[in-house]
Amino acid sequence: KAMVIITIGMAGAGKSTFVQRMNSYLHAKESPPYILNLDPAVTHVPFEPNIDIRDTINYQEVMKQYNLGPNGGILTALNLFTTKFDQVLNLVEKRAETVDYVILDTPGQIEIFTWSASGAIITDAVASTLPTVVAYIIDTPRTTAPATFMSNMLYACSILYKTKLPFILVFNKTDVQPHDFALEWMHDFEAFQAALASHSGTTDDEGEPTYMNSLMNSMSLVLDEFYQHLTAVGVSSMTGAGMKEFFDAVEASRTEYEKEYLPELQRAR
Ligand code: GDP
Repeated sequence: KAMVIITIGMAGAGKSTFVQRMNSYLHAKESPPYILNLDPAVTHVPFEPNIDIRDTINYQEVMKQYNLGPNGGILTALNLFTTKFDQVLNLVEKRAETVDYVILDTPGQIEIFTWSASGAIITDAVASTLPTVVAYIIDTPRTTAPATFMSNMLYACSILYKTKLPFILVFNKTDVQPHDFALEWMHDFEAFQAALASHSGTTDDEGEPTYMNSLMNSMSLVLDEFYQHLTAVGVSSMTGAGMKEFFDAVEASRTEYEKEYLPELQRAR
């Protein structure tokens, strides 16, 4: 049975390039994926989606018709698409018998998918139909500052707790910046605190810990718990490095989905 990979990431993290890389990697393995593009505002996708929100909804028209700005336009387009998602899901379910992977590419403005009713409806609909994993794409070179790293992890954490799905942190662009620092910070709490301390003053003029620092120290305790629940891989969407490890992680999350998510879902029904 096919697995669904929901790709999520901040704009510029390399989400489209990563989807393209998965696409070419799977083609090379003679297992072409079934791809859904859910971004109504994307002007160019470097791959050919099998289902494209842009085929049914003209986001420019939606903006004009409802007198909306760009974000409102994207959200409304996604809402309109969601009203027909049962039909989309039927197509996906049929194709899931013949493909190994279904890939969902989400809107470039991350919060439009992660914090909207439509995003939740689509995620739940997919995840209750097929084994599903979230791939959270991170711009590794831009997350080397400890404070940035932490806010990125907190964002990932909130998505994990919202979806409750198996979750893979994908450290992208390892050709520019290896992700070993990130792994170290995730596995060694003290190393992260040391990095924090050397990046920002640990105490204020009176020798008290700064607000930012005590906040970050408490936050990193929360994150320690969060790290236990996920897998991290480093990839380069540019060179293709790490793709095998990524798909190994995807396969591992199939078991997690069956053991943890599915029973929870059945209990809820
Ligand atoms: P999106 O907004 O998340 O969809 O990001 P894009 O896929 O458009 O990528 C943003 C920028 O990062 C582009 O200039 C890409 O060429 C670049 N990029 C994406 N992946 C990689 C990578 O693995 N290595 C490098 N060096 N650049 C990358």
